[in-house]
Amino acid sequence: MTVRLCQPFCALLVLLLCSCAPQANLPHLDMDSVGAEAKFQQTLVLRDSVDKLDRLNRVGWDIRSRNAELCGERVVHGVGLRFLELDDYKKEQRELVQEVLGVSWRPTVFQIPPGSPGALAGMRRGDIVLLVSNVQVANKKEAHAAIDAAIEKGEEIPIVVERGGERLTFVIKAVPLCGYPVLLNKDPVVNAYADGDRIFVNLGLLKFIQSDDELAGVIGHELAHNTQKHVRDKVTNATLGRLLVDLPVIVLTGVDPNVGWQIGRSLYSQGYEFEADYVGQYYTARAGYDIRIVPNLWRRMALDDPKGITLGTTHPCTSERFVALDAAAAEIENKRKNGLALKPEIKSSPSWLAKKDDKKDEKKEAPKDLAPNGPSSAPASGPAPFSGRISADVEE
Ligand SMILES: [Zn+2]
Repeated sequence: MTVRLCQPFCALLVLLLCSCAPQANLPHLDMDSVGAEAKFQQTLVLRDSVDKLDRLNRVGWDIRSRNAELCGERVVHGVGLRFLELDDYKKEQRELVQEVLGVSWRPTVFQIPPGSPGALAGMRRGDIVLLVSNVQVANKKEAHAAIDAAIEKGEEIPIVVERGGERLTFVIKAVPLCGYPVLLNKDPVVNAYADGDRIFVNLGLLKFIQSDDELAGVIGHELAHNTQKHVRDKVTNATLGRLLVDLPVIVLTGVDPNVGWQIGRSLYSQGYEFEADYVGQYYTARAGYDIRIVPNLWRRMALDDPKGITLGTTHPCTSERFVALDAAAAEIENKRKNGLALKPEIKSSPSWLAKKDDKKDEKKEAPKDLAPNGPSSAPASGPAPFSGRISADVEE
């Protein structure tokens, strides 16, 4: 009944809307051209996402491989290869992926950072993997498993690929890497973070940064949070606050103030950031990137999110920070000029670092103005045994 009552009004609405329709006599559109434009745009989107992944993988590889000797007990071995196959994509995407990236139904080389063993041996994106360590591999899972097994044994890895109808053989060997994989997080917020075991870079940050140098500055900073055990120390501080402040109050009053936890958690926050800046500058410089751009990167990030300027518990964009960054850059430059090893000055060097310090380093004192405010870095018992695990450098 209600529907029947509405009908005349609906008809009136349609009439009114028709009178508002565009009146220009638009040119006829060729549907083939429309289809070609759609494909062109899809190609742009695919290439753009691959370019971002490539940048993350390339810079992540450089930072992790060139700082392995400073990652102490957290060293793994890897080859930096990641494979794809058409099964990884939806049906409607496969044709484009095959055409643009050369991905096939068989395991196809996708990620291969320029400085990685595969790239140095001559492997390329689009190579179809046939054999790993003389064993036939039918899919990427088998290919990765065969590589993992060879790394575990510390063996050289012969890989037979098909390229343009030709069979080519490459022999690669895993190299040491900092055992903190760099992963993509599909969050649009301009941010990156470390969780003690991994480094996450948000998609928003990848869109924001303008060069490999800028991304290297961010990854170096986050790697320093992990190597300097800031996450673990924060949890320890918070737990102590809980035990020493919150728990007694709960026992006496029955009310949970949750103050000790908060105080403990925020303790040394700015000190951790200064330390991550300082140590991270070394990681970035050692990987061959230009650290002179780092201060301006943080300034741009502060402009993007002005809260960052005053939010003392995260990345402090204070004037002290920029002065400290410049001082760290000057310290690194000075070491370069004098042929000294590029190693950050840590108050109490872990045993594995002390052993590697050369005589020149031992003579130098830690710069007072750059010494971290937080607790000294955690001692380590020595280099971990060869883990043999291939690391996932970038996760889509
Ligand atoms: Zn930080």
